[in-house]
Amino acid sequence: MRLLLVEDDPGLRREVVPRLAAAGFAVDEADNGVDGEFLGTEVDYDAVVLDLGLPDRDGLQVLRNWRGRGLGLPVLILTARGAWFEKVEGFKAGADDYLAKPFHVEELVARLLALTRRGGGQEGNRMTRGDLTLDDDEHTVTINDTTPVALSPMEYGLLRLLMARCGRIVSKDALAEHLYDESAERDSNVIEAHIRRLRLKIGSERIETLRGQGYRLRDAGP
Ligand code: CA
Repeated sequence: MRLLLVEDDPGLRREVVPRLAAAGFAVDEADNGVDGEFLGTEVDYDAVVLDLGLPDRDGLQVLRNWRGRGLGLPVLILTARGAWFEKVEGFKAGADDYLAKPFHVEELVARLLALTRRGGGQEGNRMTRGDLTLDDDEHTVTINDTTPVALSPMEYGLLRLLMARCGRIVSKDALAEHLYDESAERDSNVIEAHIRRLRLKIGSERIETLRGQGYRLRDAGP
């Protein structure tokens, strides 16, 4: 999952980014509203964490501009504690969720995982498609309620994306865009290798290769 963090407090970014990475997010950072808005229009992010008090352009304006351009990406705003009017303004501008500062990083991670699970089968911290159940806390997959299988961070990220787009073709470029942050070297051979390992774990027939187009997770188990 590719995440954009727009926050001008470097201390907060230093605290939050490693924990988001550990939860499976590839994180891009912006420290002002203008750069943040630009990145949000350029990259197909799975979610955005948007501080409201930002240099160059405030967060509410950034959000209004995205929504004005028809961008529906999930946005969680960071508000000042006790500033209820910020939350109201944020929701009016198109925010999907909010968190008041100071917050616990665990809560931020839980809210982001919930935001990126919306729109499909879900229950608590799990995402289900057919007979596959993915656990966002444990990074495991369960097939037909059997023993959970542990996934590497990359396998988890790949499977989560394929499950979120179950039955649809996901190109290698799209997989790379969602799995790597902007600083990472992208190599499609690496994605192929991770797909191979994922197939060994969940059954090779579940992930179809469509030559020249990408991959598709079959709707239900065989
Ligand atoms: Ca700020």
